[in-house]
Amino acid sequence: MSTETRETLEAGQDDSRAAEDTIAAIATPPGTGGIGIVRVSGPEAFRIGMAIFRAADAVYRDAPPPSHLLTYGHVVDAETGERIDEVLAAFMRAPRTYTREDVVEISAHGGPLLLGRILRLALAAGARAARAGEMTLRAFLNGRLDLAQAEAVMALINAESDAGRRLALRQLQGELSARIGEARAAAMAALAHIEASIDFPEEEVPPPERGELAELVAEARGTVDALLVGAGWGRLLREGLRVALVGRPNVGKSSLLNALLRTERAIVTPIPGTTRDTVEERASIGGVALHLVDTAGLTATDDPIERIGVERSRAAARSADLLLFLLDRSSSLTEDDWRAADEVRALGDAADGETVEATPVIVALNKADLPPALTEAEARALWPGAAAVVDTSAVTAGGTEALERAVTTLIAGGQAQGADPLVASTRHADALRRADEHLAAALVALDGGIPLELVGIDLRAALDTLGEITGETASADLLDRIFAEFCIGK
Ligand code: GDP
Repeated sequence: MSTETRETLEAGQDDSRAAEDTIAAIATPPGTGGIGIVRVSGPEAFRIGMAIFRAADAVYRDAPPPSHLLTYGHVVDAETGERIDEVLAAFMRAPRTYTREDVVEISAHGGPLLLGRILRLALAAGARAARAGEMTLRAFLNGRLDLAQAEAVMALINAESDAGRRLALRQLQGELSARIGEARAAAMAALAHIEASIDFPEEEVPPPERGELAELVAEARGTVDALLVGAGWGRLLREGLRVALVGRPNVGKSSLLNALLRTERAIVTPIPGTTRDTVEERASIGGVALHLVDTAGLTATDDPIERIGVERSRAAARSADLLLFLLDRSSSLTEDDWRAADEVRALGDAADGETVEATPVIVALNKADLPPALTEAEARALWPGAAAVVDTSAVTAGGTEALERAVTTLIAGGQAQGADPLVASTRHADALRRADEHLAAALVALDGGIPLELVGIDLRAALDTLGEITGETASADLLDRIFAEFCIGK
């Protein structure tokens, strides 16, 4: 279905979100395909399904087919009696469905016009066009998934690497939610003790020991901190590693990028400074997505067009997770090499506060197919902090494996340091950081003899913040924002 058609259908929706209504959507992507699926969910799903589907087997014409059985038949326009398509339909009884509501899925031929027609029949029979993510929202509201799991559905669909997929699946299966649950349980236990002593001061409730409370809060904080440690690494797994190729003009950045991709995308020319823009390509090493950015060089220039390229290069280098600094091994170090290295180092002092100081650098001694004029020691003198120095040749593609090994080692190092990468989204990391602050404040208050009521306020704030991740305390506004990023039909 065309975008316009989708928009027209969406525009007709009202604003009610009560699950009394039945929603319908094309669940497969726009465009043509072998099959396309129209999904209907809600209390009227079976009635609507029966109104538009006619089973070949007459037994299933008066009453719906058995639940979860794929049934052969036709979609029929009841008004004209016209057969629209030959399909398979599944009538699935709540609660064993994606939304936990009654669901009908019609697998038709995957043509946009055809699917649009079937969807319109479902709408005419009483369904409302589903909003983006509304099926998953219902699964969440009906308690089948918590919020972190619902988000994992989208992360799984959008996964760009195998590592990212694995991470999303673990989140979907509830591993992150379980850890959040542990942290909440410990904080909740501490809060319960405090509230009991506040609510029943006259009764036989002994005042809680501050030491015991502190232990519970520290336990909650330990869980939160362990999740935070893995967060940076989790983001890399999900979003991939941004690698910027830097170095003076003509060292072979574009060529090496091409060799790494084994394609011919970047423009390669023997004239210095002709890569005027940054070129970004995707590759994958060790199951991790790599975003390779070829920079135009960082050397200051008077040429206004080149200056734009230089600015872009600087921005790319600044936001990179890894810098690949290229040298031409067939010639001795030039002033431009030193200048380029200084430029990269100077990016650390950038006004925007981002620093490349901590960004690991791998030095590639390129053009290794030519007679060498440069030693590893000289390269190390230029880049004392380099994580690795490897020989590469863009011409013979030699050394690309060594380079890939160096990247993999770096990735593995991050993995070892990064503990468990269960947190991949900035939203989650942000909530964890805020929860951590509240728990830290509670610990300080407990230690400093501050009244328990006030400790309770910090604990409640921590609980609410953790609840934003799994959805117990998520506002309607937050839910809207999250589910709006989903696809229609999911
Ligand atoms: P950039 O300005 O750093 O992007 O450099 P280019 O990729 O445009 O390469 C500059 C010149 O060096 C071109 O003529 C390339 O063919 C050549 N070149 C690049 N890499 C190698 C290499 O590994 N070996 C050899 N022999 N030539 C290379």
